[in-house]
Amino acid sequence: YNSSRVVSRDDQVICGASRARYFPMVIQSGKGSCFTDLDGNDYIDFSSSAAVLNTGHSHPRVLKAIKAQLDQYIHFSCDYLYAEPQVKLAEAICRIVPGDYKKKVSFGHSGSDAIDGAIKLARAYTKRPGIVSFMGAYHGSTFGALSASAICHEMRRGIGPLLPGFQHLPYPNCFRCSLEHARSTCGLACFSMLEEAFSTYIVPEETAAILIEPIAGDMGFIEPPEAYMTALQRFCRKHGILLIADEVQQGMGRTGRWFSFEHFNLEPDIVVMGKALGSGLPISAVVAREEISNALEMPAHLFTLQGNAVAAAAALATIETIEEERLIENAKMMGDFLKSRFRALMKDYQVIGDVRGRGLSIGVELLADRELKTPDPEAAVKITYECFQKGLLMLFLSSNVLRIQPPLILDAATAEKAVDIVEGAVKAYSK
Ligand code: PMP
Repeated sequence: YNSSRVVSRDDQVICGASRARYFPMVIQSGKGSCFTDLDGNDYIDFSSSAAVLNTGHSHPRVLKAIKAQLDQYIHFSCDYLYAEPQVKLAEAICRIVPGDYKKKVSFGHSGSDAIDGAIKLARAYTKRPGIVSFMGAYHGSTFGALSASAICHEMRRGIGPLLPGFQHLPYPNCFRCSLEHARSTCGLACFSMLEEAFSTYIVPEETAAILIEPIAGDMGFIEPPEAYMTALQRFCRKHGILLIADEVQQGMGRTGRWFSFEHFNLEPDIVVMGKALGSGLPISAVVAREEISNALEMPAHLFTLQGNAVAAAAALATIETIEEERLIENAKMMGDFLKSRFRALMKDYQVIGDVRGRGLSIGVELLADRELKTPDPEAAVKITYECFQKGLLMLFLSSNVLRIQPPLILDAATAEKAVDIVEGAVKAYSK
């Protein structure tokens, strides 16, 4: 096998901390919702390379924009000259981020560095040190983003101390809410917990920002109740705390809106985006109210390759493609279809404990015991492996949640074929 030769060479030269390979598969080429490996096997892609390929593999419009820019010039550092591709992109980003106020954009290369940018902005603007984020959150692996993350020991062990000033609160999780189970209606105990934290060990007037992923991807597609978000926004305003929305994974149309915070009518002060922004080319952005943006001085958030012309051209074409091909509407429609199929499977297979998410960001939680909600990580490994063998690339998160994030260009026939493969794998596991 050609793939296995690359796999063994990869083992020799790629740093173990920078690789998390699910399957012994090497991609050769991709088109639309599918790709082919080095041995000529075809796969449906239910991962979009971790929510990056929202426009699918090698969308012709994105390719055309990249090639046109390559023919002009590749890069000139924005430290020294003006460059139109990044200005055009910033204008488009300011247009798609809701909010009738003046915004400014700063570019980076990854979700992680953009999260760092947001943290810098919040501290500089409020002149406060504290950053509050959530337990289980993944915000990235640079020191700032890592300090805000709280997902596993492996991300932190041996590399501390991390940045001071960070605190983590429990993320509201209705599916596993132990505080409310005795009551018939939600008393928003999760928000009471936040208030209690802020009235005991977190000093509000020393807190610059609360950083939240409005639909928490790596936690297993957890969505807070809308009332929590409304209360959170009000709490932030009352205490002069900025609200930062991490849209790196759920943004760019994935959840059936441009950004996931729109489902909750939130008005974040800073929005962070990455992953799908460049359809696979490395580009990220921090968008903030103008007065917040102005709080940082040159060169407090400067990178030599920032706003690279080819990546910016790809990102502008990505936004235009999402708009013109109505991919947000398609994400909603296909997402509803997939969810209804998975919910139907829930009736027949005990292992499917919950189906949740919005648009094409769907989590299917696998349980060993529905009553006790005992996670079944073995099911996640076996089902995703069986799917891989049958030609569907699907990942899992949080040890037992199937991660369903296909490209937003997904069509009904491919969706149908993919769910049939998942059904077969669930059936085989349930035997
Ligand atoms: N925030 C969220 C919500 C993410 O899912 C990720 C990546 N998984 C990041 C930030 C970090 O992005 P990157 O890997 O591009 O640095």
